[in-house]
Amino acid sequence: MFASKLYSTFTKALKADLSEENRPRQVRGAAYSWVKPVVPSNPKLLHVSNSLLEAFGWTKAQTESETFLELMSGAKVLEHTKPFAMNYGGHQFGQWAGQLGDGRAINLFELTQNGRPWMFQLKGAGPTPYSRRGDGFAVLRSSIREYLCSEAMYHLGVPTTRALSLVTTGDQVLRDMFYNGNAAYETGAVVCRVAPSFVRFGNFELYASQQDVPGLQALADYVICNFYPELKGKENKYLLFFEQVAQRSLEMVLHWQRVGFVHGVMNTDNMSILGLTIDYGPYGWLEPYEGGWTPNTTDAQNKRYRFENQPHIVLWNLLQLANSLYPLMQDAKGLEAALEQYKINYKQRHQAMMLQKLGLEKQKADNSKLISLLEVTLERHPTDMTIFFRLLGHVEKNNSVLEAYNTVQEAFYEHPLEEADRFAWESWLQLYINRLQEEDQTDATRKTTMDAVNPKYVLRNYMAHLAIEAADKGDMSVLEELYALLQKPYEEQPAMQKWFAKRPDWAAEKPGCSMLSCSS
Ligand code: AMP
Ligand code: MG
Repeated sequence: MFASKLYSTFTKALKADLSEENRPRQVRGAAYSWVKPVVPSNPKLLHVSNSLLEAFGWTKAQTESETFLELMSGAKVLEHTKPFAMNYGGHQFGQWAGQLGDGRAINLFELTQNGRPWMFQLKGAGPTPYSRRGDGFAVLRSSIREYLCSEAMYHLGVPTTRALSLVTTGDQVLRDMFYNGNAAYETGAVVCRVAPSFVRFGNFELYASQQDVPGLQALADYVICNFYPELKGKENKYLLFFEQVAQRSLEMVLHWQRVGFVHGVMNTDNMSILGLTIDYGPYGWLEPYEGGWTPNTTDAQNKRYRFENQPHIVLWNLLQLANSLYPLMQDAKGLEAALEQYKINYKQRHQAMMLQKLGLEKQKADNSKLISLLEVTLERHPTDMTIFFRLLGHVEKNNSVLEAYNTVQEAFYEHPLEEADRFAWESWLQLYINRLQEEDQTDATRKTTMDAVNPKYVLRNYMAHLAIEAADKGDMSVLEELYALLQKPYEEQPAMQKWFAKRPDWAAEKPGCSMLSCSS
């Protein structure tokens, strides 16, 4: 399947680290270091993404070969390819962290599909010069989370890196899952990630921090030439490039807000220059709708990366990128205008997106009020975001408030509601029904359009947890079921109705089911 035309545009265009010494160290003046994956002791293929296989025109049978397993586990490297780890820096939780780099990601090669390059990368295949205090490995728990979620996001229509395969290595990896001094051995695993490019904001920031303008320019030219080719040769291409990145990042975070995804660690090293969701760590999905929620225990104090703050953090991250790109065009006004534009665009796009979720087409003066009142009402009493919006599609123009209330009440976590909460809901539903009566479309048409933006199934943390628990015992059936389920998140799938359910009580406080640490 990887028989021909493998290459690496990244290593061809940019400077390599002259040393091949694989120990943690500072690497200056180089975009990457050559590095070999660790050969695993007993690799086993647990899962392959059918949909990604199809996209590349491959068959399942092709993945059953020994060569595929060897490649996807790091046991072997294809002839004429030379794996490498990228060098990048980043702002972590608002602070400049210096050099970070691919501490446990190893890029294998690129190939062309549909006229664009795709990079294949192993995550968890061993240490690199950027591993710092880490071991370069990944555990099954976090690998299942990355594997399932990146594929789920793709099928939700959210820009994301993809995952081709999930492999266990046969080796044990020591992890202190709760950062409480109780380290334990866990099953080692490797995910093969696939994306046009894994370049992050942090790649630019590192060059800028080293005042290496030629290096910075080479990187920007490389990214423009390969991934923003329409900008090639334009006079103000670096500013245009920044504007495009801002636009794509806006697109990405707007989708996150639409489906209730909370990334958890929006550091600038986790911001893709292509506007893809990248690095699935302690992410989560809003169950009870709560703007202040983050799944990441490391961020529990400040909640910097909470749901409602994500669009603002994208802007903050874009500002860091703007500062890094500045030496290339020295156009502070232009960069500031682009950042300003992001704010304006986000506001408009967010309003339009919320109207879509509500199934409203007409521009009306009270649209904004309806949306802000909904956000307040959703927060009053724990209400499941996914279930609420999906059920709202069943509300009809001629419903009474009571009928509408009965239609959505399954989304409430506790019953019965306190009188004041129930009153707030009835008031909002009355406004909504009044607004529906101003629309031209039929109830059925509206439901269809709402169902296309309000997913029925998302990867709730407790679902991933169940897949992990079963997989730890060698049972892949839950992973298989969730993988299949999440390929069609907007479809009804009556046989899968059990996954259209609020988070069960046992999962509310259980580690791994609501809150997660970065340990992976
Ligand atoms: P993250 O918070 O997962 O995005 O990681 C931040 C930095 O730590 C990146 O440079 C990662 O490559 C690195 N890193 C995370 N986990 C490990 C690990 N187990 N071994 C080596 N490097 C790691
Ligand atoms: Mg990262």
